[in-house]
Amino acid sequence: MTAPASGPVPASFLPDAEGWVPAARRVPSPNFDERPAGMPVDLVVLHNISLPPGQFGSGDIEAFFQNRLDPDRHPFFATIHQVQVSAHFLVRRDGELVQFVPCGKRAWHAGQSDFFGRGRCNDFSVGIEIEGSDDLPFTAAQYATTATLVKALRAALPVQAIAGHSDIAPGRKTDPGPHFDWDRFARLADVPQNLLPFRPPHS
Ligand SMILES: [Zn+2]
Repeated sequence: MTAPASGPVPASFLPDAEGWVPAARRVPSPNFDERPAGMPVDLVVLHNISLPPGQFGSGDIEAFFQNRLDPDRHPFFATIHQVQVSAHFLVRRDGELVQFVPCGKRAWHAGQSDFFGRGRCNDFSVGIEIEGSDDLPFTAAQYATTATLVKALRAALPVQAIAGHSDIAPGRKTDPGPHFDWDRFARLADVPQNLLPFRPPHS
């Protein structure tokens, strides 16, 4: 399901009691575990991913997050097919929303990371992968879906910040990359400046 470009949060984007979003196509990943008891989920982390690198729409991201990536399909896959990772969400190029892990569980998306002195960002974050690369613009449909999802997450969770993977793992990660337009996203998602601690204030 894709999202409207603006307006109120559609009920279908609000996570249910477990943290599944009804608007998302559900592709369950085994790559998750429990969040620490009582820890508020107060960070959203934005990523980009493409598999094979630079190619879109293959279905390989879903296979990767379900530990069924075919190592013979691409040379790169042979190097990563045994890596167990996931994210809560994927926003595909056409804006379709896919969910792998319910928001109440700890998805394995950030790896070694630090948010202003707090390590283990997977413990307290929701991870959103946007299908793309560091070299290409994202689509209007992706901005719309990502913005609607973040609005819904803010309505459901005590989100205090939205960060890029590169912000919490600098030197190790570069996503969502230079083509992710944070201002455009913030406008669409009605995200105030104080929730974007890594972005310079608007002039
Ligand atoms: Zn990432």
